[in-house]
Amino acid sequence: MNIPFLSFADTNKPIKADMMNAFEQFFDSAWYILGNQVQKFEQEYAQFNQVAHCVGLSNGLDALHIALMALGIGKGDEVIVPSNTYIATVLAISYVGATPVFVEPDINMYNIDPSKIEQAITPNTKAMMPVHLYGQSCDMESIMAIAQKHQLFVVEDNAQSQGAMFKGKITGSWGHINGTSFYPGKNLGALGDAGAVTTNDTELAKKAMVLRNYGSEKKYYNEVIGHNMRLDECQASFLSVKLPHLSNWTKQRQDIAAWYQIGLQGVGDLILPQTHPDATHVYHLYVVRTHRRDTLQEYLTANGIGTLIHYPIPPHLQKAYVHLGLKKGALPIAEEIADTCLSLPIWPGMTKEMVEHISTSIAQFYERK
Ligand SMILES: *Cc1c(COP(=O)(O)O)cnc(C)c1O
Repeated sequence: MNIPFLSFADTNKPIKADMMNAFEQFFDSAWYILGNQVQKFEQEYAQFNQVAHCVGLSNGLDALHIALMALGIGKGDEVIVPSNTYIATVLAISYVGATPVFVEPDINMYNIDPSKIEQAITPNTKAMMPVHLYGQSCDMESIMAIAQKHQLFVVEDNAQSQGAMFKGKITGSWGHINGTSFYPGKNLGALGDAGAVTTNDTELAKKAMVLRNYGSEKKYYNEVIGHNMRLDECQASFLSVKLPHLSNWTKQRQDIAAWYQIGLQGVGDLILPQTHPDATHVYHLYVVRTHRRDTLQEYLTANGIGTLIHYPIPPHLQKAYVHLGLKKGALPIAEEIADTCLSLPIWPGMTKEMVEHISTSIAQFYERK
């Protein structure tokens, strides 16, 4: 049995007729940039994410960048970010000229450890960017309490966790202004690049709308040095078709994770994902850890099972960030996760048989020695 790491066969394919219909409407409208489709999706996504405003953008990285720009974060400012995040969170901080300050994650939950945040705060700290990694909400209650105490802004990186909750409150609705991504492989994915910011702050939403469109509110009148970071009409129309399916797809991801949890319990030296008792997990990724990661990955590849590593090199050890002067050993928890993590296939439509086949193959790897 061949099982790819990711397949759209049971998400995009079954809604092909609706997607083609959306494309036809978009095509016939002959309105390609910032029209009814973007506005419609923004309203729908704001409602889904339980916020007052959603501003559609070109991708998730641009969303994080615009969020920081809207908050006025810049040169000389420090922004706290988890040491094991995807590079995009850190790049957004660099784009505005601020300095990333890494805080280690909790080794069991893989999200930023709130008990380590306060020691990283300096007089220059302006914001925190919690990342709901792999699909599990961070402890947003603790993070918001720290933010309030130290007068810091919070920008959630919600790219991997659309629909996740902490104490019943949805991710992307806690921070001052938050970014998400609709990259095709994300839980809610377009057919190309797309993203958005979500916020309850009308002023910040307005700033984001101006910044995404050359810094102009009124055509050809430029108030600030803005960008072209707009969500396409076409992608917005596809996202409107897909959004109503998201909760069903999330349920399927959670079922698949539960099957893995049974099938992989006690197998070899595997460490299975854990969920904080107050959090929900929407399983963008199902990440296990093992000290035999590379050989297990080779074995699964040879047996037709696709896997990936999220992520093999933590940001502080990337060439792009040597100037921060952080050497190997500086952030041992992020490094340990990078050395041992392996993402198994998880996509809506995967059957129980597939999950059992993968679990059995992994058990066989460990029996084989
Ligand atoms: C995907 C992702 C991003 C960037 O989104 P793009 O749309 O690919 O630019 C940012 N942060 C995290 C955690 C992501 O997974």
